[in-house]
Amino acid sequence: MAYQQPALFYAENALEPFISAKTLGFHYGKHHVAYITNYNNLVAGTPLDSLTLEEVIALTATDPQKVGIFNNGAQAWNHSFYWNSLTPNGGGKPGEELEAKITQDFGSFDKFKEELKSAAATQFGSGWAWLVLEGETLKVVKTSNAQTPLTSGQKPILTIDVWEHAYYLDYQNRRPDYVATVIDNLINWEFAADNFKKARV
Ligand code: MN
Repeated sequence: MAYQQPALFYAENALEPFISAKTLGFHYGKHHVAYITNYNNLVAGTPLDSLTLEEVIALTATDPQKVGIFNNGAQAWNHSFYWNSLTPNGGGKPGEELEAKITQDFGSFDKFKEELKSAAATQFGSGWAWLVLEGETLKVVKTSNAQTPLTSGQKPILTIDVWEHAYYLDYQNRRPDYVATVIDNLINWEFAADNFKKARV
């Protein structure tokens, strides 16, 4: 079945002044669309066409013959997850339950933020920074290019896209400023709390 791009639940200018409408327009409207189009074209008419995107990602992750399907499919999934990881008037602090677990696993909320910033800043080249649940523990991880924690048995809680296309129009080479701004102003803690709740079941 063709993968449909989920609608944004906010307007393209709703993340301003932190992420411009121009960035979001290209990122959601061109980059993400291209991954989805490529993915759908690659799986069309193959046995993978009857599987969900998550199933195809799991099946193609270690298959060198299917690297194009994996890369486009994982980028389709990662971006859909990223749009939901952001919200206008976001940032601040998570709800009580998730904050308590973050404090338990990272020492403090500030230490968690530093770890996420550091992971995002030090990801060499294109990729993603994530908060994930691995077993019973929250961890910050980074992945390169289209790689996703889904294939490492980790459950994603939130993500920040650190490909240059995510920030270059607004921040040029200042990736750490983009990441700090997103963490302080745009993180969708309701989405993260919901993922945390589901991940623990
Ligand atoms: Mn991107």
